Amino acid sequence: MVAEVIINSTVKNLNKTFDYNVPAELAGTIKLGDRVLLPFGNAKTLEEGFVVGLKDTSEYKVKDIAGIQEGFKISKENIELARWMAKRYFCNISDAIKMMLPPGTSTKVIENRVKEKSLNFVYLKKEIDEIELAIETKVIKSDKHIRVLRFLEQNDGVLTTDLEMFCDVSRAIIHTLEKNGYIEIVEKQVERNPFLHKVVKKDSNLVFTQEQQNAYKKIADTIEKRKFEEFLIYGVTGSGKTEIYLQLIQKVISQNQSAIMLVPEISLTPQMLDRFIARFGQEQIAVLHSKLSVGERYDQWQRIKKNEAKIIIGARSAIFAPVENLGLIIIDEEHDDSYKSEMTPRYHAREVARKMATDKQIPLVLGSATPDMTTFYRAKQNEIKLLTLTKRANNSNLPEVEIIDLREELASGNKTMLSRRLYDEISKNLENKHQTILFLNRRGFSTFVMCRDCGYTVKCKNCNITLTYHMKENKLKCHYCGYEQPNVTVCPECGSDKIKYFGTGTQKLEAQIQKIFPNASMIRMDVDTVSKKNSHEEILNKFRDENIDILIGTQMVVKGHHFPNVTLVGVIAADGSLNIDDYRASERTFQILTQVAGRAGRENLPGKVIIQTYNPDHFSIECASKQNYNEFYKIEENLRKQLKYPPFCDIIVIGISGEKEEKVKNISEFLGTKLNAKIKEFNADLMLYSPRPAPIDKIKNKYRWRIILKGDFDDIANEVIKEVLEEAYTKGSKTRIVVDVNPSSMM
Ligand code: ADP
Ligand code: ZN
Ligand code: ZN
Repeated sequence: MVAEVIINSTVKNLNKTFDYNVPAELAGTIKLGDRVLLPFGNAKTLEEGFVVGLKDTSEYKVKDIAGIQEGFKISKENIELARWMAKRYFCNISDAIKMMLPPGTSTKVIENRVKEKSLNFVYLKKEIDEIELAIETKVIKSDKHIRVLRFLEQNDGVLTTDLEMFCDVSRAIIHTLEKNGYIEIVEKQVERNPFLHKVVKKDSNLVFTQEQQNAYKKIADTIEKRKFEEFLIYGVTGSGKTEIYLQLIQKVISQNQSAIMLVPEISLTPQMLDRFIARFGQEQIAVLHSKLSVGERYDQWQRIKKNEAKIIIGARSAIFAPVENLGLIIIDEEHDDSYKSEMTPRYHAREVARKMATDKQIPLVLGSATPDMTTFYRAKQNEIKLLTLTKRANNSNLPEVEIIDLREELASGNKTMLSRRLYDEISKNLENKHQTILFLNRRGFSTFVMCRDCGYTVKCKNCNITLTYHMKENKLKCHYCGYEQPNVTVCPECGSDKIKYFGTGTQKLEAQIQKIFPNASMIRMDVDTVSKKNSHEEILNKFRDENIDILIGTQMVVKGHHFPNVTLVGVIAADGSLNIDDYRASERTFQILTQVAGRAGRENLPGKVIIQTYNPDHFSIECASKQNYNEFYKIEENLRKQLKYPPFCDIIVIGISGEKEEKVKNISEFLGTKLNAKIKEFNADLMLYSPRPAPIDKIKNKYRWRIILKGDFDDIANEVIKEVLEEAYTKGSKTRIVVDVNPSSMM
């Protein structure tokens, strides 16, 4: 007997099946999905692989399988899913299989019983293929280093003590890797059991509104019929989508099936969990997300595997939870970016969910107040059944929104970040002891310094990006690689001392607000105040529980939270996300503004939203101020159609990066030429743009180029790209080639 085996490796040219002879003593026991040990090439140690096929003979001269590993086996369904992912996302089949493996068991079964309160966790600091490239090119040679890195590739966020034990290495090895920038060690509070201390009062089903009832009925019928159908619950914030999810899950459980519910990473909050625990009790619920330790994840995984927990709530990767009898998949806030993986495998959870739901013949439910353009387009095409909720379930009104033209403010001599209207409203709110959220629509990037005489801006020495000024430490920092240097007072280029600070960051805003309202209490939330250690959860709890007057924050304040006492939301500059070089700039702006506006007046108190902008006439801002998704959709759909962007095509970005600029350029041009020829040969419906440096053309001393393809990403297109990549992989050692299908960032 011969087994077809996939080698567990990220090396690109091992991404195929290899034949191995099954020795007589294993012939009786070997099964599809078994994890086996194999001799491979000239390697001294055995490689690990998965049996994905069994047949009588091979056309090759083959080696013997060395042994079968005990424990976890991968199901036939999952092998199929992994193959599908490898094709769709241009990853190795083993990269996809990795997502489905139990946490921590890649080398040994975990026995991790943690009691302490504050512990050190190790995280990878580089991407997996970057690490593999370093191993391949012998930048990393030590077996111990390789063991640690490979272990982390499969289990990010491991206790240092665990890591020492599993990989059989000393603390010194871990510290060397930290020093060399491959990993970081983060001190974190842990709770072994994510439900610890949770005593939640039981509640019961609410009586549906008519709109909720209609939506529920359609989906419940499909659950009963056990067939595939995709639904989009499109409902304004607070329209009672979650209540529908809860009752759908109940239905699924009553049929003795399980349900997976995905939520954006950041909204997996205790508040949200409480609602599920109140309805179902914690015994039935498993939680999976990246903040759990390997031990915790392993426990949750086992509870799912043993069918103890029938409700799985988790972030993106929870879609791969080992559920036996799945009856329903729900994706809440389906438009959220966090569903798209930016690391290999670069999958989109919605696409994987759709594939699974079709194969298993179960319904897939998407929910959002601001659906993704592509999702809504599909709904219009009747590929997805559209279920609309137009009213807030608890009868609170949507907030009143006002747009302030910042150009007029400037013209009338107001140089602060607050318009007079916003100033008045904050003052009023402070008097009434109500809470305010001030939102700055930009991620991290804040103030940069520029010479007023010659226009020089200080750039990072490793990345082609402007350094950001951090006021507290009086330093300039790179938000890409962490490089920092003292602030400059004299222009390094022309010697002038006319250094000016541009832009508005959260730090600067906080300082100004403090000056303007010296008696107000405030708290800031952005990448600098939120770390792996201080969760955004803690900041938001403090804001709510201590009734702090003003919360200042970036994107992070937008999602999922319910603050009854917030009556005013101020958007300081709505333009930040409009001026980025991305075809989704309008969509993002609309989504963010709509969501942030939804934070005001969630209960009895009426809400007010003030949006300050330099583009008061831009349709995404206008539509968001009216909370009018349909109008936004119509305009944006038209633009996308004219310019040919998704949903009217797929976009595939091939990123090429490496330390030698010349080499990166050569490989990029090689790819470009080959693609061009292959597209012609296959007559593929793909539009090819010539290779160019990426918008940020150097990050961490690596030069970056990219090739963009637009078109219908069908089997032919897939084959074209695959064939060209295979040629390039053999040619381009030391150069990293990454393919991203419909990436969430175009930078
Ligand atoms: P969404 O998920 O659409 O934002 P939620 O399900 O969180 O909306 O509902 C918003 C609020 O309305 C919650 O406080 C919820 O308890 C309440 N609610 C939902 N459905 C009903 C209902 N049928 N009757 C009364 N209140 C409801
Ligand atoms: Zn840098
Ligand atoms: Zn100068």
